Amino acid sequence: MTKITNKSIHIKTQPLEYDAIVVGSGITGGWAAKEFCEKGLKTLLVERGRPVEHKKDYIGEGVKTWEMPFRGQVEKALVEKQYPVQAQCYAFNDATKHFFGNDHDYPYSTEKDKPFSWIRGNQLGGKSLLWHRQSYRWSDFDFNANAKDGYGTDWPIRYKDIQDWYDYVEHHVGISGSVENIPQLPDSKFLPPFEFNTVEKRLKAKIEQNYSDRKLIMGRCAHLSKPAQHHLEQGRGPCMARNECQKGCSFGAYFSTQSSTLPAAQKTGNLTVATNSIVHSVIYDANSNRATGVRIIDSETMQTREYYGKVVFLCASTLGTTQIMLNSVSETFPNGIANSSGVLGHYLMDHCYNAGAYADIPGFEDEFYSGRRPTGVYMPRFQNLVDKNPDFLRGYAFSGQAYREAWWEFGGKKGFGVDYKKAIQQAGGWKFGLHASGEMLPRYENQVSLHATKKDKWGIPQLHFDCSYSDNEKKMMQSAADTAAEMFEAIGLKNVHKYTNDRPMGIAIHEMGTARMGKDPKTSILNGFNQAHDIPNLFVTDGACMASSAWQNPSLTYMALTVRACDFAVKEMKAGRI
Ligand SMILES: Cc1cc2nc3c(=O)[nH]c(=O)nc-3n(C[C@H](O)[C@H](O)[C@H](O)COP(=O)(O)OP(=O)(O)OC[C@H]3O[C@@H](n4cnc5c(N)ncnc54)[C@H](O)[C@@H]3O)c2cc1C
Ligand code: SF4
Repeated sequence: MTKITNKSIHIKTQPLEYDAIVVGSGITGGWAAKEFCEKGLKTLLVERGRPVEHKKDYIGEGVKTWEMPFRGQVEKALVEKQYPVQAQCYAFNDATKHFFGNDHDYPYSTEKDKPFSWIRGNQLGGKSLLWHRQSYRWSDFDFNANAKDGYGTDWPIRYKDIQDWYDYVEHHVGISGSVENIPQLPDSKFLPPFEFNTVEKRLKAKIEQNYSDRKLIMGRCAHLSKPAQHHLEQGRGPCMARNECQKGCSFGAYFSTQSSTLPAAQKTGNLTVATNSIVHSVIYDANSNRATGVRIIDSETMQTREYYGKVVFLCASTLGTTQIMLNSVSETFPNGIANSSGVLGHYLMDHCYNAGAYADIPGFEDEFYSGRRPTGVYMPRFQNLVDKNPDFLRGYAFSGQAYREAWWEFGGKKGFGVDYKKAIQQAGGWKFGLHASGEMLPRYENQVSLHATKKDKWGIPQLHFDCSYSDNEKKMMQSAADTAAEMFEAIGLKNVHKYTNDRPMGIAIHEMGTARMGKDPKTSILNGFNQAHDIPNLFVTDGACMASSAWQNPSLTYMALTVRACDFAVKEMKAGRI
């Protein structure tokens, strides 16, 4: 047995055998750990990154922009050395950079002229600390999409299979939003929504008068706008609307592993956490056809060890999980564990956020707003639901906000002296912007694989990306820009500008699909309960499981699928089938 040297604050010595092993401590892994622990399973949560303690380790929280040496910017030399990819993310700045992966430590390669931006949060809590908390349910328009137009494989589940699990996670998480009765965006039991400002209210009315197929609603988000008793009991408090979330929130007012699922799991006494522990591969026993555990490399000491469990849940994020699976080779599975179908790594998707429009809103000079609302307005998908758009399949949503140009936006403008100072003390004009978030089709040729020769500093083969948006996504984005601009003209906005851009895949940070669910074991990795077709005690519940991407932000659906899979796995264990 290898000596245990993990320096985690959570464990010094630990048993090597567990009922359940959960790999990854982000949004999905946190949920799996909570569910297993609450169901009485001795659970090991394995995380490659460092420990991050709620409140104590939010070192950027409360630090004012003007207190930072480069006013929030990260020093160029440091970006070049450690964060050339992560710095492309809108949330990357001097107060958040420590929650992003170090590109130097986690190298990957891409096919020539097919860039991919892999944004990572490799620490305890994963990207749950960094996410923008937008939370939307899927509907049967989404679960039926593959079957309808033939792209991808049919989902083995429908909305009715997951509806109660959405209810379950939303109750714990706390989702702020409004009941809208929109068929393509099912409602929930919401906490109160954040408020529209006066100008957004007027724009909403105008848009909805002009377009019977469109609704402008308040963005639904995982914030405790008005916490219920069970949220307070989690140690969480109400959101103060200061929009500082990605620095970490000591109030626990937004959902993260640290604020919500980890304390719930810890409370049971059934949880062990191993940080700085990189899962190299899953251990497979061909005689029993079971995953028996995981092989770990200690990220600090390079020592290896093995943990054993009755059930293994891979929650290491879409690409982290795929890397582990591809690297778990055996005689039975020479191309990656549970990959008898050969589709592991294929059908990689992201959303496409490459279009929108913005404009000036005339008038309203006497209107203002206070606070820093941590969500925007949202227009759910309205295309290809009944009518068929001739240009593209599937659809997109818009998100945005109406705001007044403020003093900091004058920074780049010309001027000096008293008049200039006076000018920048005034609020500027009103602006409105809507930005598209479009569905990407699942396509076999969009693939991630292990590089034949390149390895990271721990000796694990690097991922190699060969993927790009197709004409469908490009045409959808062009249509989104045109549609937003036409809508702005129609409701009387001025100086309308539309745009499209060609930002690479990955930058929407909704990567998914590489170990997809499906009905047929010959063409998919997982069944409708996220269980590997090939190996009954191996589950994948992060975004790798997705058979299509839909247009909604995906993490709420990952959560619902995770808790459903945990429930199923425990029942299967009790029935002696696992
Ligand atoms: C800036 C930003 C904004 C976002 N906004 C939204 C939003 O508004 N709505 C939404 O739905 N989604 C949003 N997302 C995406 C969301 O964060 C992810 O979908 C979600 O975190 C995925 O959960 P996960 O558990 O699969 O992965 P993660 O949260 O990334 O957690 C995976 C964990 O696994 C660990 N890990 C990886 N490999 C290994 C290994 N080999 N061994 C051990 N551990 C490993 C990682 O270190 C990490 O801690 C956003 C993301 C970012 C960065
Ligand atoms: S806006 Fe709310 S969730 Fe975000 S940091 Fe402030 S209090 Fe916390």
